[in-house]
Amino acid sequence: MTASATYRGRFAPSPTGPLHAGSLVAALASWLDARAHGGTWIVRIEDVDTPRCMPGADALILEQLAACGLVSDEPVVWQSQRGAHYQAALDALIEQGDAYPCGCSRKDIEAALLAEGITRERHHGAVYPGTCRPDHGGLQGKSARAWRFAIASPGNLHWFDRRLGAQKQKVATEVGDFVLKRADGLWAYQLAVVVDDTAQGITHVVRGEDLADNTARQMLLQQALHLPQPIYLHTPLVLGENGEKLSKQNGAQALDLSDPIAALAHAARTLRLSPTSATTVPQALAHWTEAWDA
Ligand code: GLU
Repeated sequence: MTASATYRGRFAPSPTGPLHAGSLVAALASWLDARAHGGTWIVRIEDVDTPRCMPGADALILEQLAACGLVSDEPVVWQSQRGAHYQAALDALIEQGDAYPCGCSRKDIEAALLAEGITRERHHGAVYPGTCRPDHGGLQGKSARAWRFAIASPGNLHWFDRRLGAQKQKVATEVGDFVLKRADGLWAYQLAVVVDDTAQGITHVVRGEDLADNTARQMLLQQALHLPQPIYLHTPLVLGENGEKLSKQNGAQALDLSDPIAALAHAARTLRLSPTSATTVPQALAHWTEAWDA
């Protein structure tokens, strides 16, 4: 592995609860990849969706990471402090005609889809039918609630994932014009993540596979804002007993930090790294950095 002073990676947890076995996999993988490349690793707290955030979870997550030897190389950034940057990006998109106000409620969207004979696919949010797009007549008397990205091209967006290989998504028809600023005034993850990955000079994004299908949306925003595109790697998910992705929403337990090496070893197994006989956290991390092959 060539050491690269320019590699900058990050771990970007949403503080909706403490770290669990699933989130530690992404944290460890992003840290190992940064170390294996001789790069910088940054923690960013993604607390834009304030109603879903748990008070104190940010501090708890940082403590849990520290117990596992994973400490940000630069001061931790909180997205809740960065609204002005997201607004500047939204203003640029509006100015270019790449964002438009939307007056639709969830019910309006469902009704418009139903009128077109489209029923919602399982596990997929409703694809926005474009009701308020300027080329469909715009707000038509409704008041603006949210801001959406105007997807210009109906075609496939192709990208490459270091683990999953060639990927493609037709964002226009699979997702639709997605929200940049929500009706409740909160910033959408897609815009915040793109602005911050650039602001922090992130060259490599390593995160859980559940976010892989968000990548094309983020690339469209990067293209529209003329921002550099990081290289992506999506890590395997830890599945719960029901076979579903372990998540805070389905009651994943907080990491047990009485034995951080065991917690790290579990994450390392998910990443198919070899077991270690190390007895300290730094030794264990050094072992897996040595074994990391990406
Ligand atoms: N904040 C997101 C999460 O906790 C991760 C975002 C990212 O890594 O791009 O799921």
